[in-house]
Amino acid sequence: MLEIIGFNAKTSAGCLLSGASTATLVAVATAREAKGLRARDYERSVVYLARNSHSCVRKALKLAGLAEAPMSFVEVDDNWRMDVRDAERKISEDKRKGLTPFLLVGTAGSAEAGCVDPLDELAEIAEREGMWYHVDAAYGGFFMLCPDLRGKFSGIVRADSVAIDPHKGLFLPYGTGAILVRDGRRLYEANSVREVLLQDHVEKDGRSFQDLLSPCDLSPELTRHFRGLRMWMPLQLFGIAPFRDALKEKVLLCRHSYEEVRKVSRFEVGPSPELSVYVFRYVPRDASRAKEANERLLAEILEDGRILLSSTTIGGTYWIRMAVLSFRTHLDTIRMAHRVISEAADRLPSNLA
Ligand SMILES: *Cc1c(COP(=O)(O)O)cnc(C)c1O
Repeated sequence: MLEIIGFNAKTSAGCLLSGASTATLVAVATAREAKGLRARDYERSVVYLARNSHSCVRKALKLAGLAEAPMSFVEVDDNWRMDVRDAERKISEDKRKGLTPFLLVGTAGSAEAGCVDPLDELAEIAEREGMWYHVDAAYGGFFMLCPDLRGKFSGIVRADSVAIDPHKGLFLPYGTGAILVRDGRRLYEANSVREVLLQDHVEKDGRSFQDLLSPCDLSPELTRHFRGLRMWMPLQLFGIAPFRDALKEKVLLCRHSYEEVRKVSRFEVGPSPELSVYVFRYVPRDASRAKEANERLLAEILEDGRILLSSTTIGGTYWIRMAVLSFRTHLDTIRMAHRVISEAADRLPSNLA
């Protein structure tokens, strides 16, 4: 995973965790330690995240004791990516007020619509301002395996930490996430205590930092689940190629679905999909009832039971999400999904149609 991101395998470090929520908690605690924050600094140390950042970021800040750190919600642009100019504006305003920029969180594949933030430009800002730069690649990270998509992630290599979920992009069983940190020492320093029980792990002459890394010094866990097996075994048996192909397939299926739904006049679609998620909504004759109509449509789809979609609200507008990321989803599934959606729309009562 470190290599996929482009981190130097000798100096970076990572750890398998339960998922991206835990990985984000570890990232935030690592950022706090790396920047030497003390309790008295919290109220002045600003965290920048996009309006559409995943809720796990706020949860991690709360759990890491940083609830008092001011959170600045950066606007998103027309493609629902973090607006770099707005981030810059907010940072200079905060500095004028005597606050310190502390943490910048970018997203590589948003949960709501698979949008990838301008990671390089955000890296630029983080470096200039001396902030810790965390990238949430929980959903999107493994699309870096697809040569056509790698370019979208340019700049992720400049992140200080990355959260990534093999239980999403590698289709593995739930409970398989990871934290990756560019300067592995930071991860180690934030998660280790040199105590008597673990003295065997204390640095010995002639052994490198890498040789000494134990998962118990890279995360909150000591006795831990054997997550490595779930990830190592499929890769050992099949190699990476089938995973790469499956990801390419999901992207093609998503684009195809987007084009098909876009053609139907009673539907409106969001920005064209960057990865394997897009949003759409039904456009009723009475625009004031759009939310109600789409809630009803989604309820009809779920009642049908053959496919599972969810909803999201972006900029006050209610959308239905089409997320294609199951290894069992193929073209026949997508065709069936279109039938289910269309039949559900036919069933809308006339006042919502
Ligand atoms: C799924 C997701 C998360 C949370 O990951 P868990 O593994 O469920 O904890 C965080 N961020 C994004 C962008 C996600 O898609």
